[in-house]
Order: sequence, then structure tokens, then C-alpha cells
Amino acid sequence: MVEKPKPALIEPTDAIVRVTMSSICTSDLHIKHGSVPRAVPGITVGHEMVGVVEEVGEEVTNVKPGDRVTVNVETFCGECFFCKNGYVNNCTNSNGGWALGCRIDGGQTEYVRVPLANQGLNRIPDTVSDEQALFVGDVLATGFWAARISEIAKDDTVLIIGAGPTGICTLLCVMLKQPKRIIVCEKSEERRSFVQEHYPDVLLTTPEACRAFVLQNSDHGGADRVLEVAGAGDTFRLAWECARPNAIVTVVALYDQPQVLPLPKMYGKNLTFKTGGVDGCDCEEVLRLIEAGKIDTTSLITHRFPLSEIEEAYRIFENKLDGVIKVAII
Ligand SMILES: [Zn+2]
Ligand SMILES: [Zn+2]
Repeated sequence: MVEKPKPALIEPTDAIVRVTMSSICTSDLHIKHGSVPRAVPGITVGHEMVGVVEEVGEEVTNVKPGDRVTVNVETFCGECFFCKNGYVNNCTNSNGGWALGCRIDGGQTEYVRVPLANQGLNRIPDTVSDEQALFVGDVLATGFWAARISEIAKDDTVLIIGAGPTGICTLLCVMLKQPKRIIVCEKSEERRSFVQEHYPDVLLTTPEACRAFVLQNSDHGGADRVLEVAGAGDTFRLAWECARPNAIVTVVALYDQPQVLPLPKMYGKNLTFKTGGVDGCDCEEVLRLIEAGKIDTTSLITHRFPLSEIEEAYRIFENKLDGVIKVAII
């Protein structure tokens, strides 16, 4: 924790947001451990936050001072080829993509400057609390995007690998598609019990038992859709091995190491792989779903800390102590 000056508007498209609640993401830990090469040393981390608009540049029309807003993890212009096609993660603007809390100062603080605020801020409906909206801009956007690109149909058996915060957000968004079966594979017993307790209709398995379990609980020799959210050493392999022929395998996970794509072994299985980082352009729709009571991520907030105790929050989150899923920094 260090003192920094309060940020000021730089561009006419900027907004200053007073952060009312933020969270810690696994990506923050990756920055802390130096595994995000583009992260700028000394940057204020944090890219999951909600707040109140304090001040806007003259070209900001989407929000006004006093509005409660979610802040999008991604900065995007809305005008380039990629933005126009919904691929906002690949926005070609110099601030485009993941800038907040990585290349420019982020949100684990009191005030944050948000560039391209017309695209990056979404008004929170009055009936939605800060806690309900906290994950809209990052981890829930990721889950929503993963479920969307996986083309899930009613008769599908969907396997989700990993029940950490992103895995559970993915699960909630997959549930909206109402597939025939959802199987969650998770190695931590604590997290399996969390899923069991909160989402009793979901089938649970472990990485060791996963292949046999999926075979037994699917109609066509494997899962119709696999969403790999774990990013562990052998979970990529598990993902394609548990998929039936012609399945879609969506890789949401961020790996520390390169993964092997053994094409000779996969020959004839005719899989479709979808990979990469979230295109967080559905925040408004996600907020509407929260308002309508169709998505609720508040149970993920297992711990709350004031900003002054964020170092303790990091210790608990990083070491997965005390049954933590997500922390709220108030
Ligand atoms: Zn994140
Ligand atoms: Zn763009």
C-alpha cells in the first residue's frame, strides 16, 4: 500500500470513478509473481470494481457524475474492425484490451481513471447492489462469454473443468442455457462441496474419475461441450479426452506452460477448439440478468475486507485459506 495522487482526467473520453468495492483476481496474482510481461512495474493493480462516477470528460455521454457503474476489465473504442465485430479484447486502440490494473493504474484504490468511458462503464440498475454487480466487468463477463461461444443446446451434456471463481461464474451462465446435464470436475473437496451446496442439480466429479464419469453420464461417448476453466498441468488434455467426437471444446483457462495438441491421437475426433481471452461486451445484458434475478454471484463473496487490510485479503486469497472463493474490498 502506497499513497498516490488522486487521478485526473487526461482525455475527453475519460471518466474518474470513486471505487466503492473491488476484488482480487487470479490475474492480479500473476502480475504479483511477474508472469504478465506487459504489466507495468509499480502500477496500481485491480480490474474488478464497481463505483460512482465522480467526473467525466466532455465526450462522455453514456454516464454522468453520481451514476453507480460497473467498470469493464477491457478498454475498447467501439469503432475499430474488432470492436465492431464484438471482439473487443482485440481492440486496436493503444489502450485497447486489458489495460486497467496492468498497463495503467487500476482499481484496488479509492479513485480510478477509466479511459474510453462510454464503452467501459455500465450503469448499475437501482435495485442491484454493489455486491451483486461486483463481478460483471471481469470474471462474470468471462463466464458469460465462455457459455455464449460454446453454442450450448438443450440436449447437451456440458462438462466444466474447474470450480474456482471463473469456473463457478461459467457454471451460472451455462445454467442459463438449460442443457440436459452439467458436470463439474474439480479437484478441491472444499470447492466441490461449495458447488454441491449451492447448485444441487449439478453432477460432480474429480480429475481422476472424470473420464469414466463423463462416459457414464453422457449420451454419445463423451461431453457435447467442454469448457476448460482450470488451467492446471493436465486439464487441457482432460478437456479434449472427455469430449465426444465433433464436440466443441472452449478453453477459457490461462496456462503457465505451453500445451500439447496431439493431432495424430485426435485424428477423426473432429473437435472444434475455441480459445482465448474474454470479449467483455455483454455487461449490459449481464446486468439485466442480475436485475431479473437470473444470475446471482453474491455467494462467491466469502470474505470482506476494508481497503486498509488488503494485504491480509491477498494472503487469504492467494493461499486459498478459510474456504475463500472471492474477496470484496470495501
Ligand atoms: Zn481478472
Ligand atoms: Zn476498438
